[in-house]
Amino acid sequence: MKNQLLLLEKVQAIDIQIGIIEEEEKQYNTDIARLLEEIKEHETKIATLKVELDELEKLMQTLDDEIFSCTERIKKNEDRLKNIKNDKEFNAATKELNTAKKEKQTKEGERSKLIEKVDEKKGLIKEADDRLQNKKTELEGKNTAIITNKEEWGKGLKEKTEEKAAIIKDIPPSLLKRYETIKQKRQGIAIVSVEDGTCQGCYMNIPPQAYIQLQKGSSDLIFCPHCHRILYWHSKVSNS
Ligand SMILES: [Zn+2]
Repeated sequence: MKNQLLLLEKVQAIDIQIGIIEEEEKQYNTDIARLLEEIKEHETKIATLKVELDELEKLMQTLDDEIFSCTERIKKNEDRLKNIKNDKEFNAATKELNTAKKEKQTKEGERSKLIEKVDEKKGLIKEADDRLQNKKTELEGKNTAIITNKEEWGKGLKEKTEEKAAIIKDIPPSLLKRYETIKQKRQGIAIVSVEDGTCQGCYMNIPPQAYIQLQKGSSDLIFCPHCHRILYWHSKVSNS
């Protein structure tokens, strides 16, 4: 039993290494999925901002046209005033001239405010675009790394699986099955050593009777009464 437990402990060490490789690969895939999601979000945001900028620029065009027409009206009325025939005409031309001037001033005020809005919008687009480019660079890096690492992970997994297979054939299937079941329930750790009467899985003391039994070398499996993991023990002498 003791030898089988030692083999099982080796299997567990290999399983932990396999788990680390799988976790690393999973982490990469998670990171890539997250980056793709973030890139999509930035692209949507930029598209919305560009639509808004487009609307502002259309407004700007309208304002420019209106300012141009005010300038024309001002010019026209100034010309009219040069060849005035009577008071009535003078008053009408002056009134129209003032209206056009006032209107132009208002429109120019609006235009200044609009320029600020356009600049602000362009700034936001630039910011979002910078962030998008950063995410794209990050994604590119991850994609390159994953290609390199995939080979490494594959090689590691193959090695570990072969190593495990070589050990497993000397372990009774019923014991292996037990190990797998506990492993699932106990975060990958199914077999733990006992040191100074303490389970190294949950750090609780095990009953003295069980400890004595372990030290003697029991033919039955002994479980931690607290965390239900398989216990094993080896003397410090044989350990060093
Ligand atoms: Zn325990």
